[in-house]
Amino acid sequence: MKVFDLHCDTITECCKNCVSLYDNYMHLSLKRMEKFQKYIQIFAVWIRDEMRGEVARQYFDKVADYFYKQIEENKNVISAFGDKSETKVKAILSVEGGSACGGTLDGLTHLYNRGVKLVTLTWNSPNEIASGAFSEGGFTSFGKDFVKLAEEYGIILDVSHLNRESFYDFIKISNKPFIASHSNADIVENSKGRKRNLTDEQIRLVKEHNGIIGLNFCRNFLESDGFFGIDSFVRQIDYFLSLGCENNIALGSDYDGCSIHSDFAGVEKLFSVYNILAEKGYSRELLDKIFYENAHRFFSENL
Ligand SMILES: [Zn+2]
Repeated sequence: MKVFDLHCDTITECCKNCVSLYDNYMHLSLKRMEKFQKYIQIFAVWIRDEMRGEVARQYFDKVADYFYKQIEENKNVISAFGDKSETKVKAILSVEGGSACGGTLDGLTHLYNRGVKLVTLTWNSPNEIASGAFSEGGFTSFGKDFVKLAEEYGIILDVSHLNRESFYDFIKISNKPFIASHSNADIVENSKGRKRNLTDEQIRLVKEHNGIIGLNFCRNFLESDGFFGIDSFVRQIDYFLSLGCENNIALGSDYDGCSIHSDFAGVEKLFSVYNILAEKGYSRELLDKIFYENAHRFFSENL
């Protein structure tokens, strides 16, 4: 089976704890990923909200160095998405928090030169670009220039973590298809889920712009009202299907970035998740779209 996952924090955690990407105790390791027919993973450098300016930029470089070192050490297993190596695992580098640019357009050029293909514009607080899910306010004027230049570079922009006001500002500024790498539908009755998940109107706009949405395994964004684990994931799939999003949903695991139910906790669980969903009556064609094809189509067309 093939997997394309739009978001994990694993490389940031590996760097922080000096742990190998190949074999570790975390949700995601190359040793387990190579058991799949194909595994394309977007690896995020997560910029914490306390980091701004030069501190954020230097931190990005430190984790990006670690990312490239891990790829070099394991080049028989993993290589960059789009290059010719026939490895089972393919990697795409992203930043979670546009503050990685240090608050300058030169910094954005630096991210581009270092191979960043996707930028999640904010984390939960305001940054130089816009305001995140747990804060007030929308886009700044720098943020508008940031979006324009990033789109010129062909960097994919990601609206997960934007608050509603920033999201609607972004819709006015952006000219390219975009993604929500790890967000669910706003049907989860808890405060964290409400702010991070997408309303029907937002989902409709992502779809209208030919974007995709990665379904997040984070318990806060899935579980409520007696729905837990796989059942809470099924509730999300059914809801997105009811909005006609068969071609717009993918996986956005958030591995190594949050608390995840044991049904999904670890890449090896994706085999059983797929099989359980198939037993529940979802067609292989639909599951292949969610697990791989929709994201593969989007990135083949837009990267
Ligand atoms: Zn996140």
